[in-house]
Amino acid sequence: MTQAQLAQGNDPLLAVRDVSVVFGGIIALNGVSFDMRHGQILGLIGPNGAGKTTLFNCLSRLYQPSSGDILMEGKSILSRPPHRIAEIGIGRTFQNVALFPNLSVIDNVRVGAHARTSSDIVSDSLRLAGSPRENDMNKKVHDILGYLDLEDVAHTVVSGLPFGTQKRVELARALAADPKILLLDEPAGGLNHEEVYVLGDLIRKIRDDRKITVLLVEHHMGLVMSIADHVVALNFGRKLAEGTPAQVQADPDVIKAYLGSKDQ
Ligand code: ATP
Repeated sequence: MTQAQLAQGNDPLLAVRDVSVVFGGIIALNGVSFDMRHGQILGLIGPNGAGKTTLFNCLSRLYQPSSGDILMEGKSILSRPPHRIAEIGIGRTFQNVALFPNLSVIDNVRVGAHARTSSDIVSDSLRLAGSPRENDMNKKVHDILGYLDLEDVAHTVVSGLPFGTQKRVELARALAADPKILLLDEPAGGLNHEEVYVLGDLIRKIRDDRKITVLLVEHHMGLVMSIADHVVALNFGRKLAEGTPAQVQADPDVIKAYLGSKDQ
């Protein structure tokens, strides 16, 4: 193993350092710290109002922490606007799906492929027409459509597709930007039991095949506990516990926090 590989093994890919977020008088996050390791699936759980969405929004740069820092490969991401996180390898999906509803599946995925570059899609399209780079990009888009079993609907307008398929298109779009880390915001929301099971397999496959690190904010405890390597539990904006799914599930403070909440 080289020095670089050794260093990569020890250093976190993403580090959340003492992050607090205050909205008016409400402390939504209170000094939260944890590390995400390369290739890990990390589940972020907690009862309603625990601070999961707030933390997710800090990571995807929609919210600015009141204090603390978030480091990607050792560098702070806090001066980066949300539309420039794809460039450093952070990809995300949205709770309620945020695709271009009137565009086809393939065009939505193309947008994702352009997100990794700092230029805009219009100038890219003009400059790239017929170039080797465009050919590479097209090949990548087709590979991803095949990988996520979306080839049959590649030219279908997104708004006409079932919700579960739209969620897969969102994943495809995020993957097209070659993320190092994928932030998934309640991916199981709105899916039936069978679809959640398939999604779990897919997330694991993406991690295994593509070595992508995954942060999963999720209410569906069955999904988190079956696919996460590491779980961080929040409550009232603080980190309550972290460890393996089994450790966190058995933690008395976590059990207490969930008793009486609708997330049991
Ligand atoms: P849920 O599981 O219900 O989505 P959550 O764990 O994602 O909950 P957050 O939505 O992050 O929790 O909320 C944490 C706290 O911050 C809550 O008390 C919430 O009311 C408050 N909060 C979140 N966003 C805002 C905002 N934009 N303005 C004011 N308060 C907010």
